[in-house]
Amino acid sequence: MENRDIYLDNSATTMAFPEVCELVGRTMSTLYGNPSSLHSKGMAAAAEIKTARERIAKTLKCEEKEIVFTSCGTEADNLAIIGGALANSRAGKHLITSSIEHPAVLNSMKTLEDLGFEVTYLPVDETARIRLSDLEAAIRPDTILVSLMYINNEVGSVMPIAEAGALIKRVNPRTLFHVDAVQAYGKRVIKPSAEKIDMLSASGHKIHAGKGVGFLYIRTGVKVKPLMVGGGQQKGMRSGTENVPGIAAMGLASQMLYKNIAEDLDRLYELKEYFISQVSTIEGAYVNGLTGRDSAPHVISVSFSGIKSQVFLNALNQKGIYVSSGSACSTNHPGISDTLKAMGVKKELLDSTIRFSMSVFTAKEDLDYTLESIREVLPMLRKFTKR
Ligand code: PLP
Repeated sequence: MENRDIYLDNSATTMAFPEVCELVGRTMSTLYGNPSSLHSKGMAAAAEIKTARERIAKTLKCEEKEIVFTSCGTEADNLAIIGGALANSRAGKHLITSSIEHPAVLNSMKTLEDLGFEVTYLPVDETARIRLSDLEAAIRPDTILVSLMYINNEVGSVMPIAEAGALIKRVNPRTLFHVDAVQAYGKRVIKPSAEKIDMLSASGHKIHAGKGVGFLYIRTGVKVKPLMVGGGQQKGMRSGTENVPGIAAMGLASQMLYKNIAEDLDRLYELKEYFISQVSTIEGAYVNGLTGRDSAPHVISVSFSGIKSQVFLNALNQKGIYVSSGSACSTNHPGISDTLKAMGVKKELLDSTIRFSMSVFTAKEDLDYTLESIREVLPMLRKFTKR
């Protein structure tokens, strides 16, 4: 079996589209003016930002002015949660989130707790989704914000976002609804106005646009206190000279991903189903969370009994296959996954889990080679793994 280069870690980050790389190069070398400058170089850079805003607004069916560019998904989450809470604290000091959010959300909540806010952490069921009845019971008259992830980064479960949005607005119409869509934007058709989403975070490096850029959708009328203060760029919501190449990249990648999204999703779901049907025939392999259209098109979490995930990851790496053990999103506690624990995955499988995550570049041959490699290395690893 020859060695290849099979990238199945797209939930951690993605390769930029070649068209995006070309645009970034061009933007850096020719559109280098400061978008706030009043001469033509500045205006050309500002026009590039406008184009990116238009492209993104089209994908979400929202207004251009509702898009605020940030440096990453983490910043978008911080701005929505901390900025949203600080701007609305007169209405109350209670927030709700789930126990399996990304650290960008959980640590924003911790920051607010230190400032005197109160946070309710909803548990999840065995499919890594909150129960709507728990959400309903948690909403109070002083609840100012609910933050939920659209797609879980570790197991790919899809939260019932539209149902949650309708429920929140029915129980307390003043409660803001923030959705961390870092794993969902580009992999799902999302319409914030229909799903009663007030704020939505996305990240460039998860959608083939490169690192250093993200955005927060903020519905017109929602009050958010800026966290970055300075020269008042982006209507004062996010000061700092705009990252024009990154913003242009995000605009183009968004447009490209949504151009044929229905067909691309059909193909990814087919690949996912194929991989699951094959990997499930391997003894001691258990697929975590939901499958099919109730799950993300690109994430497959599998626990393999009798192995340590880091050792397995290294063995696959030797074969030129790049995957994650649990999630690569946190540098604090790699290894044991809080999401798998919260879902009630058996203790002996917690440290035996691999996340395979695909992209529009993934081909069936990549999966066949991966399955062949798993079948080859697994028995050997099991033999030498001390339990
Ligand atoms: N939210 C989720 C669900 C994520 O998966 C990630 C990154 O993995 C983030 C937020 C943070 O995004 P970024 O890496 O752009 O800061």
